[in-house]
Amino acid sequence: MTMIGYVAGALAAGAATFAGAHTMVPWSQLYGANFSGVKEGLKVLALTYDDGPNDPWTMKLLEVLAKHQVPATFFMLGKYVRQHPEVALAVQQAGHAIGNHSYSHPNLIFSSEAKLRQELEETNLAIEEATGERPFLFRPPFGGRRPGTFKVVEEMKMFPVMWRVTCFDWSAKSPAEIVKHARRQIAGGEVVLLHDGGHLRMGEDRSHTVSATDELIAEYKDKGFVFLTVTEMMQLRPDIKLPFGMGGMAG
Ligand SMILES: [Zn+2]
Repeated sequence: MTMIGYVAGALAAGAATFAGAHTMVPWSQLYGANFSGVKEGLKVLALTYDDGPNDPWTMKLLEVLAKHQVPATFFMLGKYVRQHPEVALAVQQAGHAIGNHSYSHPNLIFSSEAKLRQELEETNLAIEEATGERPFLFRPPFGGRRPGTFKVVEEMKMFPVMWRVTCFDWSAKSPAEIVKHARRQIAGGEVVLLHDGGHLRMGEDRSHTVSATDELIAEYKDKGFVFLTVTEMMQLRPDIKLPFGMGGMAG
C-alpha cells in the first residue's frame, strides 16, 4: 500500500484527466466507461493475461512473476476454471488479481444481453467456487462490445477492463517479437495485454509469452517502473468508482 500511496501522489501532481479516443480502439470510452490505464508517462504497468487457466503455462508464468515478485491480473475463462480450479486457486494464492473473461469466449458484438449475463454469471460462479472470491473485473473476449454490453456489466456490479498495449503474443514467433511490440507502445501507465492461454484449446503453447514476461519485467524494473494489479492501478484514478465501495484515493 505504501507503493500505491507514492504513485497516487505522483499522479495527483498532474491533472488526472483521461483522453479516450472515441473510436473502436481498445481504450475507446464510446460504449461505456472502462479502464485501460492511468496518466501517460507514470512509471507503472499492469500486466494482464487472458484465456487461462492453461495447463501447464499458467503455472510456469506464476514462477516467473514470483521470481520478480511482481503482481499481475488474470482474465480467466469459466470453461477452463472448471477444468483446472486448482490453477485458478494457485493464481489467487500467489497474490494476483483475477477477472472474468466470459465462459466460452463468444464475440459479444453478436451476443444478446441474456447470453452476456449468462456468460458472466457462470464464470463468476466458477471463479468463486475455485477461489472463494467473486471477481468484479471483466474483459470482453476479442475486446468486442457494442452499445449495451458495458451497461449489463455495470448492472452486474462489475467493471470493464481494456488495454493500451497490445503485444500480439498469440501470433508471435519469438519472445523478442513480443518484447518489441511492448517496447514500441509503452510510455508508462498502461494496461498491457498478454495471454497465458488460448481460447480454442487447453494446453496452447505460451512459452514465448512466459519468456517475454521475464524479459519485460527485468527491463522495465531497471527503468524504475512499478508493476501493479489492475485493481491497484484503478485506485490511482479518482474518477473511477469501484463496485462494492472498493478503492478511491485513500489517505
Ligand atoms: Zn481472450
